[in-house]
Amino acid sequence: MAVVYSPSIIVHGGAGPIKDDSLAARLEGCKAAALTGWAILQQGGAALDAVEAAVVGLEDNPLFNAGTGSTLNSLGKIEMDAAIMEGHSLRAGAVAAVSGVKNPIKLARRVLEDGRHILLAGEGALLFARQIGFPECAPESLLVEGEKKRWQSKHGTVGAVAFDSAGRLAVATSTGGIFNKLPGRVGDSPLIGCGTYADDYGAVSCTGQGEAIMRLVLAKSAVDFLHEADDIEAQTAARMAIAHLEERLQSTGGIILIDRSGNIGYARDTT
Ligand code: ASP
Repeated sequence: MAVVYSPSIIVHGGAGPIKDDSLAARLEGCKAAALTGWAILQQGGAALDAVEAAVVGLEDNPLFNAGTGSTLNSLGKIEMDAAIMEGHSLRAGAVAAVSGVKNPIKLARRVLEDGRHILLAGEGALLFARQIGFPECAPESLLVEGEKKRWQSKHGTVGAVAFDSAGRLAVATSTGGIFNKLPGRVGDSPLIGCGTYADDYGAVSCTGQGEAIMRLVLAKSAVDFLHEADDIEAQTAARMAIAHLEERLQSTGGIILIDRSGNIGYARDTT
């Protein structure tokens, strides 16, 4: 008889200071997203479906910098990044600098299922969406009033990591990127190994300054900490990764992680 594991899920709503009074509503949004994923896991569903559903919930919540509510680039336009990955199969799909789709994580999932490529960017990602009949939206429909006004807002990605009852790990990350970025800038989130990574040892989603996270290939580094020794658990690996970011590049961020036993780890050095 197949082993039945005890599932687990963790989500994040992005690193960085919250300059308004939205903390309670953001926590509610994270909780709702985690519960959406949890319902799938409890019914014996796949970690991959759980992380996608959790991130869709966060993308649709205008408080978070992903999907609806994404931050603006230096031209005042929204360009989004997203990636999804399954640990045991190492299947991955990602989109970068994409506009005109409501849920970039769903498009990333379609890239994963398609299987020919891992990362599609900009116009090419939109062309792929059209070819597969993926629904488009007016780019302005994702722009919320608060984001127009909140020009100081810098961070806030969303992510989910899950472990299902079959022992499978998966991760999904989605972001509007960093505020005032140059058009075409791609952050860590859609780059496999940087902001998003899963194998059969662990699954990880990062948030923070993408340029620093990329230099350290942080998500893969965190999973490598788990590979290094069997007694390093999720929480230790998460702390080690954030310490590495701080010590090596004096950068700040946050990380969520689940190891192959389903243990949850998270760490951050931002407010
Ligand atoms: N890591 C994201 C990026 O650089 C931003 C964030 O996490 O807030 O695109």
